[in-house]
Amino acid sequence: MPLYDFECLRCQRQFEAFLKMRETPAALTCPECGAGNPRKLVTAFQTNAWSSFLDDMERRVNPQKFK
Ligand SMILES: [Zn+2]
Repeated sequence: MPLYDFECLRCQRQFEAFLKMRETPAALTCPECGAGNPRKLVTAFQTNAWSSFLDDMERRVNPQKFK
């Protein structure tokens, strides 16, 4: 389940939330003011860093898989 960053359009509070496959940001509410439909922030860098971290871990655990 992917974790996304959102920004509330009403109070500008930023928060993280899990988004299920068929859920849209409109279903989420701000933890601060309760406003719905937050803006989804782009977190491509974090996602890439995380996935290369996972690759690195897998290389250590399963070196034969990457030969
Ligand atoms: Zn808010």
